[in-house]
Amino acid sequence: MSPFTGGTRVEVGGVSVSTDHYIGGRRVSSPFTFEDRSPLDWSVKLADVSRGDDSIADLAITAAVEAFPAWAALGPSGRAEIMHRLADLIDANIPSLAAVECLDMAMLEESLRLRVLARGARNFRAYADLAAGYEERVWSSNGTANRVIRMPAGPTVVITPWNAPFMLSTWKCAPALAAGNTVVLKPAEWSPLSCSLLADLAHEAGMPPGVFNVVQGIGEEVGAALVRDPRLKRISFTGSPATARHIGVAAATNIVPFTAELGGKGPFVVFADADLPAAAKKAAGQYDDSGQVCLAGTRLLVEASVRDEFLRLFDEFADQHVLGDSHDPATTISPMIHPDHVANVAGFVDRARAAGDTILRGGQPSPLGGDDGLWYEPTLIEPASNDSEVVQREIFGPVLTFQTFTDEADAVRLANSTEYGLSAIVYTGSQERAERMGRAIRAGTIWTNCFLVRDLTAPFGGCGISGIGREGGDYALDFYSDLKMFQVLEGTTG
Ligand code: NAD
Repeated sequence: MSPFTGGTRVEVGGVSVSTDHYIGGRRVSSPFTFEDRSPLDWSVKLADVSRGDDSIADLAITAAVEAFPAWAALGPSGRAEIMHRLADLIDANIPSLAAVECLDMAMLEESLRLRVLARGARNFRAYADLAAGYEERVWSSNGTANRVIRMPAGPTVVITPWNAPFMLSTWKCAPALAAGNTVVLKPAEWSPLSCSLLADLAHEAGMPPGVFNVVQGIGEEVGAALVRDPRLKRISFTGSPATARHIGVAAATNIVPFTAELGGKGPFVVFADADLPAAAKKAAGQYDDSGQVCLAGTRLLVEASVRDEFLRLFDEFADQHVLGDSHDPATTISPMIHPDHVANVAGFVDRARAAGDTILRGGQPSPLGGDDGLWYEPTLIEPASNDSEVVQREIFGPVLTFQTFTDEADAVRLANSTEYGLSAIVYTGSQERAERMGRAIRAGTIWTNCFLVRDLTAPFGGCGISGIGREGGDYALDFYSDLKMFQVLEGTTG
């Protein structure tokens, strides 16, 4: 039997999806809805989705508060059993999840099926096992043993963005649940549907009522109501710095720890001694998914002596991109998420042109899809100055900038010249230079001669306005726990 049952439902890509919230183990609808359209064809309305408000936020957090003691008491191994079942169900339903997320967010379906969604299952397995295998840390001094133990923190709100909504939500919900917290997830209103399927799968896996809840709605409405609730013990947010500032105020008001994974403006540094074809291929590959990737190295910084050679290779690889329907395996560039987002991206490029930056390629919406099409041409801009808006602000679309540097010190200066610090990519043939650059660049993740490979247990997060806190492995489990020092004075008991 399909796990996708219950509540008000619509068919999306042949899959039955609930348009309701999921609270306390059952589907709950709101009297008002918001429209969800497909970026693949904006004339297609996928669903009218329940639009949460203050009362829905209250209901969801009440459910999470009530479910918390029993979930915490279940212990890491008991929770792991349920989380493994959920991981197996995710794996078994990847085709359905991919069909829905492809229509809802337009991520390339093949990449969803082969790579992205399986990562969601791995998140649940890995965090369940890591929490169950936790070994107490012990600090010994002056004949005393200070044991560090983890206490589940409590009800947690998780707020996620529209790009890779399923995977990014599991990235946060899995460690929160494994740590013994109950969760209210609010996915983004531009791609809400795959997280509704996650609720069905959690239900099917036997997640007790109230342990995992999904609330749909607009950020400024139900999102804001959720994060200001004083009963919360943790807030975990991924999205833009602008929204993080609002959430930070709510977190500060209630003195609730919050973690924020925010935008990026990563440098992609290429030295003359690098494997230039490999570097150019990877750089041009960043147009995949229309560049809607926070970790992308959107500022190409290339050693001046190889400027022409790099640009020739980059153009060769960029020319191979295929704009098209995300269902088609030949497509590499999907449409962008929403007409408003296309307008944002076009605004950046138009302002750059007007300010005297040079458009090296692209620079306009693609005619694909006619007036309603959401594709934008893969664009490369050489800015007139490092202060140009396109260098200093995240665009989150298929737009890269191109600058040259004279030597290593100049490369570091440019790499560290924005307020962001999420990630950086360095291509060099020198081990010593790789080591120096890795230490000198201010970012949470540095990839050398590679991109987007990361062990789940490694820390992940940003510096500067790219975020607060670290997720991944024990870093995430520590965040979702209250760490306790526990000591019994030797010789005073039994
Ligand atoms: P956004 O900040 O507009 O929205 C993110 C989420 O916050 C949505 O669910 C939205 O409904 C909610 N929200 C909005 N206002 C709110 C409020 N006042 N209170 C509570 N919730 C509110 O971001 P977006 O446009 O959905 O996503 C794009 C951004 O996310 C980019 O900056 C991108 O770099 C970033 N991002 C970062 C990472 C990372 O891991 N660092 C990953 C993916 C995306």
